[in-house]
Amino acid sequence: AKRAGGNSYALFEARMDVDVHAQVSLQAELRHAAERGELALFYQPKVDGRGGQIHSVEALLRWYHPQRGLLGPAQFIPLAERFGFITQIGQWVIDEACRQMREWSERGVHIRVAINLSAQQLRDVDLVGRLDRAMRRYGIDPSRLLCEITESVAMEDIEATQRVFEGLARIGVFLSIDDFGTGYSSLSYLRQLPAKQLKIDRGFVQDLETSKDARAIVDAVVQLAHALSLKVVAEGVETEGQRAVLISLGCDELQGYLFARPMPAPDLLRWMLDDAP
Ligand code: C2E
Ligand code: CA
Ligand code: CA
Ligand code: CA
Repeated sequence: AKRAGGNSYALFEARMDVDVHAQVSLQAELRHAAERGELALFYQPKVDGRGGQIHSVEALLRWYHPQRGLLGPAQFIPLAERFGFITQIGQWVIDEACRQMREWSERGVHIRVAINLSAQQLRDVDLVGRLDRAMRRYGIDPSRLLCEITESVAMEDIEATQRVFEGLARIGVFLSIDDFGTGYSSLSYLRQLPAKQLKIDRGFVQDLETSKDARAIVDAVVQLAHALSLKVVAEGVETEGQRAVLISLGCDELQGYLFARPMPAPDLLRWMLDDAP
């Protein structure tokens, strides 16, 4: 038995080894993904709760890996964070979102784009400068750019968050608190952040039709947000039933597979021209 145990331990260790090797090679490849043209932004519409129009989209990062195929952010963003180059990737996201907005503008499509910021980007002292320079380079009006920061990241280092939010608000960039309800916000603190938007986490939306508690929470969050002059977006809307409840509770914008999945820029343009009401 001892022997077998020893063997299975060795096997386990060997597997871990493979995994570590895979991670190391993946992060090495990721360092060059942007310059090799393998990164892409997919866009998911935020649909107006009242009229159903599209005023904005969220940019979600993808990696076309030459061997592994299309990878989602969960498969590689943690690596970039751990190995300390999320800021470089974030810079690519900022540039690409601005470039894309410019291209859409030239075709007469004026929509807002939201990008996601990680904890490390929030600690980057040059973040405001980076955004400012990218918007100038492409001639983008700052009010058309939105930055989404998750509630838990925003509350990690409250003073840093406040500094960054104020810097971004000063240059005219809108801020959104993402995945709201999953962290532990001090409500009085929320009041002090110059945010414009609050995104209700998908977890609450999922349970809306079956749980009275989820419904009560969403109801309270919408009221709180509106009292603080914040717009409310619900994410992960997948059913007609969820949509109906969210609209009755006063959600301003809805986002989810019910309307559209995240898609490449050319598909989004086609989707807007074909399906927009
Ligand atoms: P998130 O910001 O909460 O984005 C929403 C996620 O939910 C996206 O996953 C989106 O594809 C997915 N989603 C949208 N509608 C539905 C729906 O109706 N049902 C379900 N089940 N899922 C839905 P994705 O694209 O895999 O992104 C995952 C996370 O990765 C994002 O969560 C965001 O935190 C992060 N992320 C994405 N792009 C970037 C980026 O450029 N930079 C950074 N730092 N993080 C990013
Ligand atoms: Ca987001
Ligand atoms: Ca979210
Ligand atoms: Ca989420």
